[in-house]
Amino acid sequence: MSKLAIKGGNPVRTNLFPSYNVIGDGEISAVTDVMKSGILSRYLGAWHKDFFGGPKVQEFEANWSKLFDSKYSISMNSATSGLYAACAAAGFSPGDEVIVSPYTMSASAMAPVVCGANPVFADVDPETFCISADTIEARLTDRTKGIIVVHIFGGPANMEPIMKLAKSRGLVVIEDCAQSPMGEYKGKKLGTLGDIGIFSLNYHKHIHTGEGAVVVTQDDRFADRLMLIRNHAEAVVDAKSKDQNIEYNGDLVGFNYRLGEIEAAIGNSLIQKIDDLICSRIENVQYLESKISGSDCLSFLKVDSDNRHCYYVHPITYTSEVSGVHRNTFVAAIRAELAPCRLREAEGVLCSGGYVRPLYMQSFYQKRTHPVFKNASQVATESYQPGSAPNCEKAFRESLIIHELMRPGFSKDDLDDVVFAFEKVIENIDDLYGD
Ligand SMILES: *Cc1c(COP(=O)(O)O)cnc(C)c1O
Repeated sequence: MSKLAIKGGNPVRTNLFPSYNVIGDGEISAVTDVMKSGILSRYLGAWHKDFFGGPKVQEFEANWSKLFDSKYSISMNSATSGLYAACAAAGFSPGDEVIVSPYTMSASAMAPVVCGANPVFADVDPETFCISADTIEARLTDRTKGIIVVHIFGGPANMEPIMKLAKSRGLVVIEDCAQSPMGEYKGKKLGTLGDIGIFSLNYHKHIHTGEGAVVVTQDDRFADRLMLIRNHAEAVVDAKSKDQNIEYNGDLVGFNYRLGEIEAAIGNSLIQKIDDLICSRIENVQYLESKISGSDCLSFLKVDSDNRHCYYVHPITYTSEVSGVHRNTFVAAIRAELAPCRLREAEGVLCSGGYVRPLYMQSFYQKRTHPVFKNASQVATESYQPGSAPNCEKAFRESLIIHELMRPGFSKDDLDDVVFAFEKVIENIDDLYGD
C-alpha cells in the first residue's frame, strides 16, 4: 500500500465527511408553530396547573415517558441542571459521599458538590469503561449516600450487581444517560434501572434542542422534588404540600431549570427519529468492526445480546504491546489519512485517543481549595490521588481510541474510507516504529 500520509504520502481522504445534522423541515415547522402561538414558555412558580409548564413541554414529557418506559419525565434546561437537581432530590448533604466515575464529563462529579457532598471516584471496568460493583465497593464508607453511574460512550454499566449493592446499603443510584438515550441493559431502558436517570439534549448528543435535558424517575417523591427544584421550590412548596399532602422537609433550594416551548417542540419532532438514528449508528459500527476485525492490535466492546449500546462515540481498545507503536502515534497517523466532518471542521478529524483526563487529575480535585474538601474522608482523599483509578488512567494514556466517523449520514463509501485508513496504517505500522 502507498506511503502513510503522516510520512508525506497521499491521504486516504481529503474531502469532508458529511455533517451530523438532525434538524430538518419537521423541526423548523414545529418551531414556527410555537413562534406563531406567541407562547415561548409558560410556567408559573406558584401552585397552579402552569407549575408543570406549557403545552409543548407537557407533550414532550408525555412522549418521553412513553418511549423511555418511565413513569415521570421532567424536562430541564441542561443535563448539568438535571444532575444537580437529582442530587438535591436524593437529599445529598454536607458530609455525605457519592461514588462516581472519574471517566466522564465534569458535571457528573460536580453535581454532588453543589449539595455540599464529596464525590468519591471509583475505577472503571475496562470491559465497559463504566464503574462496577467491585470498584464501587472498594470506595464505600459509612458516609456513602449514593452512586452516580455514567453509561459512558452510549453503553451500559453492569447494573445488576450495582443495584444489588446499592439496595443492601440503602444508596440512591443516579444514572447519567447523557450519552446513552435508548440504550438498554438486559432489555430495560437505561435511566429506569436506578432511582433517577438524566438525559442531555445539548448539541453534541444523539438528538438535541440546542440546550436541554430530561430527567426520568419511577418514584413519586423524587418526581415531586425534581419538579420543585426546577421551578423555584421555595415559592410553591408550602401550598403544594398542603394541597397534595406531600411530605416536605424544607430542604430544597429552588432554581430555574425550566425548558422552553421552542426546545420542547423541537424535542417532540426529534423524538420520533431517535430510534432510527441509533439503529443507523449501530449498523455503521457493526460494518466498521466487521471490516477492521482482522487487526490484532484493535479490539471492540463485547455487547451482550440483551444489552444495547447506542454509540455516542465508537470506543476501540488499542494494544501497543501488539503493534509496537504508541497509541498517540497510531491515532496521529489515522488522523493524517482522513478529513474533518462538515460543520465541525474546526475540531479536525473526529478520532482521538483517550477521551477526557480522569476527573480527579483536574485542579479542582488536586488543589482542593473548595470548602467541600474540608472534612473529606481518607477514602475520598485517596480517590483524588494520581494512580487511584489505574484502568481509567490506562485507557486515557495508552489503550483507548474513540471516533465519531460512524454517525448517521455516513454512506458505505464514507465508512470504507475509515476502514482503508485503519488498514493502511496497520499495514505500514513498521514505518511508525520509533516515532
Ligand atoms: C453532555 C454530558 C453532560 C452534560 O450535559 P449538558 O446538557 O451539556 O449539561 C453530562 N454528563 C455526560 C456524561 C455528558 O456527556
